[in-house]
Amino acid sequence: MTQLDWHSIDRFLMGEAWAGSRIPEYRDHLCHEIGPRWGGSASDLEAADYIHAQMVENGLEQARLEEFSLDSWDYSDASLTVDGTGEALEIKPFLRCPAVDGLTAPVVDVGYGTEREIAAAGDALSGSIVVMHLGPEPFTPPLPHTARLTLAAKQGAVAAVVVESKTGGRMEYRSANDWRAPGIAPQPLPTVNISFEAGGRLKYLAARGTVATLRVESRFFDTPANNVIAEIAGETMPDEHVIVAGHHDTVFGTPGGNDNTSGTVAVMEAARVLAALKRETGVAPARTIRFATWSGEEQGLQGAYAYVARHHGKDGRTSPPRFALNLDELSTGHMKGVVVMTEHMRGFMQERLNTMGDSLQCHVQGPLDAHSDHFPFTRAGIPAGILWRWRFYGRHATSEFHHEFGDSAQKLNVRELKEYVGQISRLMLRLSHVPSEEWPDNPHTADEMEARAVSEIGTHSPTFHG
Ligand SMILES: [Zn+2]
Repeated sequence: MTQLDWHSIDRFLMGEAWAGSRIPEYRDHLCHEIGPRWGGSASDLEAADYIHAQMVENGLEQARLEEFSLDSWDYSDASLTVDGTGEALEIKPFLRCPAVDGLTAPVVDVGYGTEREIAAAGDALSGSIVVMHLGPEPFTPPLPHTARLTLAAKQGAVAAVVVESKTGGRMEYRSANDWRAPGIAPQPLPTVNISFEAGGRLKYLAARGTVATLRVESRFFDTPANNVIAEIAGETMPDEHVIVAGHHDTVFGTPGGNDNTSGTVAVMEAARVLAALKRETGVAPARTIRFATWSGEEQGLQGAYAYVARHHGKDGRTSPPRFALNLDELSTGHMKGVVVMTEHMRGFMQERLNTMGDSLQCHVQGPLDAHSDHFPFTRAGIPAGILWRWRFYGRHATSEFHHEFGDSAQKLNVRELKEYVGQISRLMLRLSHVPSEEWPDNPHTADEMEARAVSEIGTHSPTFHG
């Protein structure tokens, strides 16, 4: 292999990522011109078309849309009304909440929904609407809220109102199912979100024997959605590849400045910068670098699942990537390194990061992290990782904004994202050039990772998000 001048390459990549940046333009188009992009909606399809067009314009190869059938959901209304007084409390359905047609039931406060609290509520839960804090009770080993909702459902609760942890009237669109479960699991019971403040009001009323009526108008349906794929062909190992990707869909009512316009724009920019490197200096990847943006992440990672099934399914259609890097919520903190999902990648990744300077570190995720698009890869036995942005230290105050109106375009930190783009480009190019014999053997199989995911269902995970 010809000797590469990494000093010059790094100067080009960091310089192009900074001075040539198109981040503000991409951000504005995705956040302001298109706006919220619920997977499978017209705006989500428009976003995929836009990203594809930019990939073509920037000289990427094999740029294409890959359609898949999205198992989708939406809602038209949700209300919680106190019987007798008619007082209405504002709620948001959890994503994929089934329709609730005027359920009138007593409201029972189960605190944090710990095993102890659910047991103490006893028969009162039968046929009730429970009100439960979202976050775990801090003095008891934590259970994820999915597990706590499941406990309530098993004891007879028929719906749940979850009290948001954030204060100030904020409410996220949340998911109530454990994403480690195979397929798209149904919610343990119909679940809606209520603000911290209105939740306090509901708990006051519950203590006084209030009966309330819950209504959720929602529907499930299948709809086409598109992933966007592009690549730069490897010069000496074109049949091997590494992939860097992030989801372009959002939840309702937010353009997702942080979640995940930041990651989408980083994929687009890394592709542009590496294509420019090849065009202007002749330095190409050795193995192919593939770039992708997914739809349907907020609906159970369906875009990434569809991609993995199509390309690397059980019958192994094409050889899997050597490594899959997922970019999600890159405006939560500055870049500190890479978090890989399996120990066998740690030393190898740290060596690559060491060649980049900047004290970047590699860490290994403990319990499998199912909260974003690296999980379908991990689950298929493919080495995968995310970027280390904020855990332990360096968390931005605005990192709490996702899945809600406040995750606006301003939440995308432009100058910091330029640095991410430069570092991601440097890392992906390095990974593309590592000789095959220097890659660690992957000791993990799809069956093994699947069994591990299933064994961890219901356990607390120090999550990707929070
Ligand atoms: Zn996300």
